[in-house]
Amino acid sequence: MKTKQKTHNTLWLTLSLVALLALLIGIGIQAGLAFWRYQRSRVVAGAALEALSASCTAQLQEKREARLAALGGSGEEARERLMALAAEKGEKQRDKHLELLMLVNPWHLLPEGYEPQLAPAVSTYQSNSGFQMDARCTEELHQMLDDCRMQGLQPYICSAYRTQDYQQMLFDNKIGRLIDEGVSPEDAPELAATTVALPGTSEHQLGLAVDLMDEGYPYLNEAQEWTETQRWLMTNSWRYGFILRYPNGTSDITGIIYEPWHYRYVGKEYAKIIYDLDITLEEYLQLRNGR
Ligand SMILES: [Zn+2]
Repeated sequence: MKTKQKTHNTLWLTLSLVALLALLIGIGIQAGLAFWRYQRSRVVAGAALEALSASCTAQLQEKREARLAALGGSGEEARERLMALAAEKGEKQRDKHLELLMLVNPWHLLPEGYEPQLAPAVSTYQSNSGFQMDARCTEELHQMLDDCRMQGLQPYICSAYRTQDYQQMLFDNKIGRLIDEGVSPEDAPELAATTVALPGTSEHQLGLAVDLMDEGYPYLNEAQEWTETQRWLMTNSWRYGFILRYPNGTSDITGIIYEPWHYRYVGKEYAKIIYDLDITLEEYLQLRNGR
């Protein structure tokens, strides 16, 4: 009788263990499948964004040309005129009242020893990010990020104020990577300057520029434009005093590639005008200077 009971118990124990094992394997398979589906949806979404971006770039370029032509002569002439004016009038924006409009680009260096008054630039997800910006814009930056999040979107800061030394390090690293890729040491600095601003010419050193990305698409490429976060920021940032600084098709005016993540604070008043006119900071300064 006892032996029978023992066999019975062993049988139950074995069956229970087998059932438990089957359950664990089942959970493992489900988790694996869910993760695979999640990864695949991210790749598909990323590819779709990139395709959309490519198809829209040509259209935007055409619109841009038309706008430049409307500003004066053919697109090519207008560009040359605007560039010449930018160089000629570069000094004017140093006027104290126009400090928020200070132009920093490949042709206008940051004033030597420029040191903005800094304050922490944070977002809910990044309370200890260590990012800093000019104290004149952090309140509005935080308001903008909060309001964007209220829409269910996920903006985050990936770059803000940079010191001269930090910009130099980014630039040197880029040169190093180019040389590793086989570019000659003579050509590397010029090539590096097309994607990483030469120290002294980066708006990030002003403390008024911030790079913002969508958490769901953390890549610094043109497709960033088609994320919900960037759609919202591009439409609304002017309300908080920020402009999209390097719009599509403006590289020959700004000297910087299209960056659908780089926002520049100029104050609400100027941001609204620049947004309404749909022009760059360079073009606005020229119009302002009466030419
Ligand atoms: Zn930037």
